[in-house]
Amino acid sequence: MKACIFCSLPKSDVLVENEIAVAFFDKFPVNEGHVLLVPKRHVSSLFDLTEEEVMGVWNLVQEVKEMLDRRFQPVAYNIGANVGAAAGQTVFHAHVHVIPRYQGDVPDPRGGVRNVKKSMVPSPGEGEK
Ligand code: 5GP
Ligand code: ZN
Repeated sequence: MKACIFCSLPKSDVLVENEIAVAFFDKFPVNEGHVLLVPKRHVSSLFDLTEEEVMGVWNLVQEVKEMLDRRFQPVAYNIGANVGAAAGQTVFHAHVHVIPRYQGDVPDPRGGVRNVKKSMVPSPGEGEK
């Protein structure tokens, strides 16, 4: 089996951690401060987490947000996870993306995580530009 890059992450890459999870910068960030959070236990899907792990990961999301607020002063966040190849997952150690957002970093931010795919039905306001 191929070694998991998130199981063999260098200690020096760790930004914050708790008993359950660790956070580190994405190597190919979509924005300044793009962080990934992974449970310490190797599971491929976020849906395989225990309740305790869900809490541990979410608590760390909060800590990461506070750290990023101090360090980069973003004005908003996208938080998301790709679960399964058809949803875009490329590293099969479950992880959460925390992406800081900055005023004007895209021309029209409406829709946020909805923009991973074209809508089946236009949402209110779509196409009014
Ligand atoms: P996925 O596409 O599976 O949701 O996310 C995998 C993420 O891992 C991508 O955002 C990618 O940029 C990031 N990534 C890939 N290889 C490495 C690596 O070696 N180190 C770090 N820190 N991030 C990585
Ligand atoms: Zn792993």
